[in-house]
Amino acid sequence: MQAWRAELKRHFFILTAVSLTGFAIGELELAWLLLFVSYAVSNFYQLLRLTKWLAKDHSSNKSPPPESFGLWGGIFDGIYRLQKQERRASAYLETIVNKAQESSAALEMAVIMIDRKNNLDWWNQASESLLGLRYPQDRGQPVTNLIRAPRFGEYFSSNNYDEPLKLNAPGDSGRVLEFQIALFGESERLMIARDITRLHRLELMRKDFVGNVSHELGTPITVIKGYLETIMENIQDLDDKWRKPIKQMHQQSYRIENIVKDLLLLSSLETKTRPRPQDSFSLLQLLSEILNDTQQIFAKKSHDFRLDCNEKLQFLGENGELYSAISNLITNAAKYTPAGGTIMVSAKNSEAGLEIMIRDNGIGIESQHLPRLTERFYRVDVSRSSETGGTGLGLAIVKHIVGRHDGELNIESEAGKGSRFICHFPSIRVKLEAPNAASMEPPAPATTA
Ligand code: ADP
Repeated sequence: MQAWRAELKRHFFILTAVSLTGFAIGELELAWLLLFVSYAVSNFYQLLRLTKWLAKDHSSNKSPPPESFGLWGGIFDGIYRLQKQERRASAYLETIVNKAQESSAALEMAVIMIDRKNNLDWWNQASESLLGLRYPQDRGQPVTNLIRAPRFGEYFSSNNYDEPLKLNAPGDSGRVLEFQIALFGESERLMIARDITRLHRLELMRKDFVGNVSHELGTPITVIKGYLETIMENIQDLDDKWRKPIKQMHQQSYRIENIVKDLLLLSSLETKTRPRPQDSFSLLQLLSEILNDTQQIFAKKSHDFRLDCNEKLQFLGENGELYSAISNLITNAAKYTPAGGTIMVSAKNSEAGLEIMIRDNGIGIESQHLPRLTERFYRVDVSRSSETGGTGLGLAIVKHIVGRHDGELNIESEAGKGSRFICHFPSIRVKLEAPNAASMEPPAPATTA
């Protein structure tokens, strides 16, 4: 504002001086014409200097702007100031980019940026050794051309990256990589791949070990249980002091057998491929069957069992596995609900998917236990669980089966009031169909062998 005022004053002063001089010599028009021409020439000259200066390469040659005064001086200085600010900002950005590149180069995991057209944009050094990317040849190439495994293609285009993807390294089937993708900006992706070969081998060893131990224990336990059963049939022939220990051994042999069965089931679930949503069966029929079986086992407790399920609901998955999961939940509800209590089983289908809920008004669970309930061998109360013949593996099995069918298990409970176990399945796992003869065949429970 100050500069404008000074400039106006200067112009006014020059105009007055030229007018007076022109008036004095009797050539007022000529004086104004000369003034106008010199004004236009001077401005044109300044514009020329500015254009020349701007045309220079300022990244290498940091020449100062031309000296000037008045408004033009202000314009030159302003541009110079902005240029300096921009240089400072880009130097700062350059240091940050350099630091990010240096730190990502030091990482052992591959970090890759993929543009919104799914082409490789940038990657760190580790990507070259882990995934065989080459700079600059692969820049701008579609990522799915370089990592060709069909499972990677499916994962990449799914846009659902909640779970990481495990895959053999391209060109090196002995190495296992774990891929994780995050979306950012305008549909751009940041992909991280790390070598998990060692972890994968350990995990395989653990699964094999559990599977083998359970399998090896199977035969001796069956033999011991068989002998104990024979002894139990003739328990009256035994000396008094042997009766109690033999009874306990007989009970415990059942427990060990159940634990081994559950461990074998878990290990087979871990090794089998996921059931595809191809085969379907009637949900109402499956739930009714489980309810009937449980009702018979817990007949003495006279529970009030209720079932709410549309007869058209068809589940797409593995019949035996779903039987096992739901049967575990209903058996738990019956175990942990006192005599006369209510056990409600319902299946609801909506746009959000299928929800199978098992609700009881039994003893409930204190909130601190809820996050750990699905861990193997986790029990709220060890003595209570042993009394009910529990193995502590039931909910781990349920979670596994529900997960294998793309679902999720949610548990809500309040001590003293009851519990709700809800299995959410996506819509791909359900269809509505009038009941037919084929779906009336009884389901076979999951086998552990
Ligand atoms: P278990 O074989 O011991 O029943 P689970 O894995 O099936 O093992 O369940 C873990 C624990 O969760 C149980 O020990 C029990 O304390 C608790 N639990 C499971 N279902 C219920 C239920 N419906 N009501 C109350 N507690 C339950």
